[in-house]
Amino acid sequence: MKTVPLAEYRKKRDFDVTPEPRAQIAKSDRNPIFVVQEHHASRLHYDFRLEADGVLKSWAVPKEPSADPAVRRLAVQVEDHPLAYANFSGQIPEGEYGAGTVKIWDKGTYENLLEKKPQRRTLTEAIRDGHVEVLLRGGKLSGKFALVRMKVRGKKSDWLLIKIKDAGERRKSNSSRFEAKVTAVPAKLPVRAGRSPHPQTLPDVEFTNEEKVLFRS
Ligand code: MN
Repeated sequence: MKTVPLAEYRKKRDFDVTPEPRAQIAKSDRNPIFVVQEHHASRLHYDFRLEADGVLKSWAVPKEPSADPAVRRLAVQVEDHPLAYANFSGQIPEGEYGAGTVKIWDKGTYENLLEKKPQRRTLTEAIRDGHVEVLLRGGKLSGKFALVRMKVRGKKSDWLLIKIKDAGERRKSNSSRFEAKVTAVPAKLPVRAGRSPHPQTLPDVEFTNEEKVLFRS
């Protein structure tokens, strides 16, 4: 089911009308970036995007992302966006897809925590597997976050964005200790996977109405 990169992004937009970036794959050899855009569309939501394979893998989050590990945010996967979108803020004209104001809410670099041994998963592979773990280095969001695909109720696009609790975060640490901590993460993964949100504990009701709006914006 391999599709042309950014085909869906292109299809939804008229670039003669919208100021959004054109559909182009970009290459970079620096650290991968993430961006969160506050999008005042028909309903306010936050677009969470991670760079991978020259595009921005994207999720629409109906509520402001939270740094509280107890808070799980629904994150609906949407079409890949061009890398240049990370710099986009402005007004999508009335009548266009996602019409409304886009502001950059947070931006920074990230580290794919599953890239290290023993998992060695690229971000794209992690998305395929429904379990992403990243270390964000942004202004508002920093530390480890997980995106976990919900397995219940059919929809493959429904994920949860969760702050991963990190005991070490409360301690003041120098950079070498910080690196050691990050390296140690993959070894703990099976345990964490076992603690993944169980279907029955998910607050399903809360999300029901928001999904409909999200797919349009
Ligand atoms: Mn959006």
